[in-house]
Amino acid sequence: MKILVCGGAGYIGSHMVRYLLAHGHHVVVFDNLSTGHALAVGKARLVVGDLRDRQALRRLYLQRYDAVIHFCAHSIVPHSVADPYAYYENNVAGTLSLLQAMREAGVAKMVFSSTAAVFGHPSSPLLDEHHPTVPINPYGASKLMVEGVLADASRAYGLRSVALRYFNAAGADPSGDIGESHQPETHLIPNILRAGLGQGGRLKIFGNDYDTRDGTCVRDYIHVNDLARAHLKAVEFLHDHEGAHVFNLGNGKGFTVREVIDAARAVTGVNIPYEYAPRRAGDPAVLIASSNKAREFLDWVPAVTDIGDIVETAWRWHRAAKY
Ligand code: UDP
Repeated sequence: MKILVCGGAGYIGSHMVRYLLAHGHHVVVFDNLSTGHALAVGKARLVVGDLRDRQALRRLYLQRYDAVIHFCAHSIVPHSVADPYAYYENNVAGTLSLLQAMREAGVAKMVFSSTAAVFGHPSSPLLDEHHPTVPINPYGASKLMVEGVLADASRAYGLRSVALRYFNAAGADPSGDIGESHQPETHLIPNILRAGLGQGGRLKIFGNDYDTRDGTCVRDYIHVNDLARAHLKAVEFLHDHEGAHVFNLGNGKGFTVREVIDAARAVTGVNIPYEYAPRRAGDPAVLIASSNKAREFLDWVPAVTDIGDIVETAWRWHRAAKY
């Protein structure tokens, strides 16, 4: 297939690009490099541009593509609270511009990068697709708005789409060539490994008084290459399924912050200096995905579910990060 990967220079997008190339697909990356890295796209062709630039989208000749996989977004929750216009502009208006260009060109399949943040505060620890969606920050709200746009577009224009709601994307390609590199870094596993490497000071654990096994938050860490595989399965699913679909993607197991630190210590052999800090605003105690729907309809099961294995791949990247 010929696939356009928007946001293919970012963390998850670059793993997608690599996965598609390894499976014989033709890939072009469209990315404004606001948070992505040109080096991350590897052998794929990179077109630098912004989704809101309709001329740039026209120059892509979208009619040549079988599907678009769309990762472009701002994704830092506290930033979204501080500057919601930037999030609605980039995540919602940007996606609308892309969808309009796809419609003009007759491209009828999109796989969209959504998030567990669409759920807001969970009313149960295990979340399936029927859990109410009440986002508690503009980031989650912007992703939920796009899910709504995709549903309307399916009814009005026959667009076929899958929105994949990731839980905690983690790990890196085992090659160590690509990985997670955000500026600033807010995610747990990179921050743990950076603390282990003596970069950025001691890790702060946000809260140790939650109602969990050891008082720290439980999250569902899903390997980034498992996410990439799910996206290709989703494109294939759209060959014979109309409509707008949503799937949760997680590994179905939860690990506390302390357990992730212990796994990192075991895998890396280095000490991870940490200290306890106050709870971070908006952090629920436990977030675990039920991915049964993806297992049933996408025939997808995560391959890397052990937290030590996930952290080990991230370590290969972080100890010699190329960007
Ligand atoms: N966390 C932490 N210290 C950090 C980063 C994260 O204690 O430096 C905690 C955070 O409070 C949450 C979990 O680790 O309970 C995962 O946070 P992350 O930002 O990686 O993902 P989120 O669950 O917010 O999407």
